Amino acid sequence: MSKNPKETEEKEPKPTLKDLRTPKGVHDILPDDHEFYTYLKKVIRHRARQSGYRRITTPTFEFTDVFKRSIGDTSDIVSKEMYSFEDRKGRSLTLKPEGTAGVVRSYLQHNMQTWPQPVELYYIEPHFRYDRPQKGRYRQFWQFGFEVLGETDPAIDAQIIQLFKVILEDLGVADLFTLQINSIGCMNKNCRPHFIEDLRNYYMGKERSMCEECQTRLEKNPLRLLDCKEEDCIILAKLAPQMKDYLCEECKEFHEELLKLLEGLGIEYVENQKLVRGLDYYTKTVFEFWSASTGAQNAIGGGGRYDGLVEKMGGQPTPAIGFAAGMERIIDTMKEAGITVPTKDDIHVFVAQLGFTAKQKALKLMNELRNVGIKCVGALGKGAIKNQLRVADRFAVPYTVIMGITEVRDGTAIIRDMKRGSQKIVKYDKVLEELIEVLGEDQLDRYSPEEVLY
Ligand code: AMP
Repeated sequence: MSKNPKETEEKEPKPTLKDLRTPKGVHDILPDDHEFYTYLKKVIRHRARQSGYRRITTPTFEFTDVFKRSIGDTSDIVSKEMYSFEDRKGRSLTLKPEGTAGVVRSYLQHNMQTWPQPVELYYIEPHFRYDRPQKGRYRQFWQFGFEVLGETDPAIDAQIIQLFKVILEDLGVADLFTLQINSIGCMNKNCRPHFIEDLRNYYMGKERSMCEECQTRLEKNPLRLLDCKEEDCIILAKLAPQMKDYLCEECKEFHEELLKLLEGLGIEYVENQKLVRGLDYYTKTVFEFWSASTGAQNAIGGGGRYDGLVEKMGGQPTPAIGFAAGMERIIDTMKEAGITVPTKDDIHVFVAQLGFTAKQKALKLMNELRNVGIKCVGALGKGAIKNQLRVADRFAVPYTVIMGITEVRDGTAIIRDMKRGSQKIVKYDKVLEELIEVLGEDQLDRYSPEEVLY
């Protein structure tokens, strides 16, 4: 006798929550946190707009070569932190680990050299790195960044640093960070290459006092020897040659002028000879904002000049500078400092109803309320008014509109003042007017093109 196929079909075991949790290092952004992200994005957009920057979004993944060629094979990002994968045709793609490479690729692809220079762009995007997850270090994280391409002057460097600082000021955290600044010179053979040669010579023969990673760095990326966090390496770095003694005339002048400009703007800085940034593409100015209390580990962002990158990626020589900042770290800092952000998510009115006709009226009323800017919710799937009012409590609304069988029959509605506990019966077609009156015109959240302007 054949069995019913349904009975013999093996059921896949039900997954446990543990099986489906987010992978290590990535997280949901829940509504409470979104209040911070939204606020941060508004501040960024506002400051960008004031300074003539326009927004760009590059794709979440690009050909791996875009990052390899720009960031450099020896950087931590390319050598061990990229999420790379092959597509169905065997092409290597990578989730973007940082923003500049994609922006430069786009600058070239869209012929932005023909636009009025400098081209000033900003982005607010998630990025992906196979980092070791810990507080403030994730595998998907949000960065905002600013890039200026096509013109050079120390004043441009000063201005972009100032922009970063102003954003931190707007967010109330500027005092918690120090600006660290350095110049790592240029590729002129008397400048950085000469320094690197002497740096190698200094470290050569000292391998036994260096951490394993620095032994590789000596070979592949000697600049990074200077910012190693291992104790023995820190000691070695103290007596290492210093870039400032090797800067060519042009780089030296450029850097001195930049420092003067920062002073003129009242921006304090710490000259830091150990600051090199991890990526190959920097030239001259490099800078980071470090936590004033914990230092380099909690850098909130950084950047620098990358005058050689456009050419390296196939374009004409084009000077450029940019920075990127980590949004999770900024938000963590804001929370730790007890900073709260204003939100527009509070609900004005709860609409409770009983019976089908009341429900129909409630749906219509809620739409009308929203159209004049009254934020309202109902609990349309809940039965008893008592249960609905519990939901109203959860939203902590100042007013509730109640429409039961009596009110529908009389063409009225009850408006309940939730704080006072008092209530008033009004004609159904006066509900809107009455609510505007008690809430106040200035509280309304009307759709306005101004408000939603990018
Ligand atoms: P970077 O260009 O690597 O210096 O990154 C700029 C900023 O992005 C850092 O200062 C951090 O604030 C942030 N950031 C970089 N990597 C991560 C990460 N794995 N998780 C969270 N934030 C990060």
